[in-house]
Amino acid sequence: MASVTFESMRKLYGKTLALKSIDLIIRDGEFMVLLGPSGCGKTTLLRCLAGLERIDGGTVRIGDQDVSDLPPRDRNIAMVFQSYAVFPHMTVFDNIAFGLRMRKTPKADIDRRVREGAALLQLEPFLSRYPAQLSGGQRQRVAVARALVTDSPVLLMDEPLSNLDALLRLHARAELKRLHSEVPRTTVYVTHDQVEALSMGDRIAVMRDGEIVQLDAPGVIYDRPASVFVGSFIGSPPMNFLRCVTRDRTAVGDGFEIDAPSGTDGRTLLLGIRPENIRIGEGPINGTIVVVEPLGSHTLLTVRVGTETMKVVAPADFTARPNEQMRFAPDPHKIRWMDEPTGRALPVPQ
Ligand code: ATP
Repeated sequence: MASVTFESMRKLYGKTLALKSIDLIIRDGEFMVLLGPSGCGKTTLLRCLAGLERIDGGTVRIGDQDVSDLPPRDRNIAMVFQSYAVFPHMTVFDNIAFGLRMRKTPKADIDRRVREGAALLQLEPFLSRYPAQLSGGQRQRVAVARALVTDSPVLLMDEPLSNLDALLRLHARAELKRLHSEVPRTTVYVTHDQVEALSMGDRIAVMRDGEIVQLDAPGVIYDRPASVFVGSFIGSPPMNFLRCVTRDRTAVGDGFEIDAPSGTDGRTLLLGIRPENIRIGEGPINGTIVVVEPLGSHTLLTVRVGTETMKVVAPADFTARPNEQMRFAPDPHKIRWMDEPTGRALPVPQ
């Protein structure tokens, strides 16, 4: 068993509460992504799990064992960090073998496992080279291989692809996902890249200011963000939010009137809708085209609605002139209503 459990875990740096009270269960074999803006506490959470930081409250368990006070070497965790430290004076083979040698693995076993790891990451031709003779992406793969060949049941990765160029990153993302499906092991993956999170995670924990603000499968987080913060952080471009006031079961905004959710009369709401869930040509929203951006696979529109702006994804062959007036219809099944004062989503009626 290698589930990971955080219970009311807190971490202070001096007087700064970096992690407020984390409750999180990562299932055995799960690929859990920690996602959030810079400074929200992702790396700190990972370091507390690895034992590189002392916690200031609560517990951390791996399987049934309370590891809160165990030193890193006794936690049996493999790690890949953003600044993937490969040893410059060691060959690729020796770099990959490093963790196994530390654990006094028999020589024949080391040999076999290093070759398996190198094969998985297509590093076989480079085993006798030194890091200086490799590209950045190859070095990155050495660091990943070194973590993968150990039999640690828990794997931690902190932005492991951040130093790769866009194309290599795309390739490595798919590679890591394939590896995980072949050899599932409990993985905690830190990123601030929402595309990476959506494509790789079994579940995503979205963090903000030392707290987990939403924990769910990627599709749910995307379709039903729990707050304006999550809807704005995930999605490119992010979810649109149009302000409106409700009366007589109608949400009245600047430039639109639309059915309001029941029981909200007199409240100020935000109509949340993703750019790809808006139909063009008819509907309750009256907008003015501001910018038309052809992007190959689709066209992105910037539309003024009253004093606000919304983004709309249109088909690739869509044409419109700036300042043209058009009507727009948000898909009623995809609208996410938010309470404006708190920024939290209204409960979805069952
Ligand atoms: P990034 O994506 O930029 O790496 P992060 O989400 O991983 O950010 P952390 O590195 O976990 O964020 O930092 C969380 C908070 O704790 C930040 O406010 C940071 O300034 C603070 N912090 C992190 N390490 C220390 C430290 N050693 N001493 C004091 N404060 C720290």
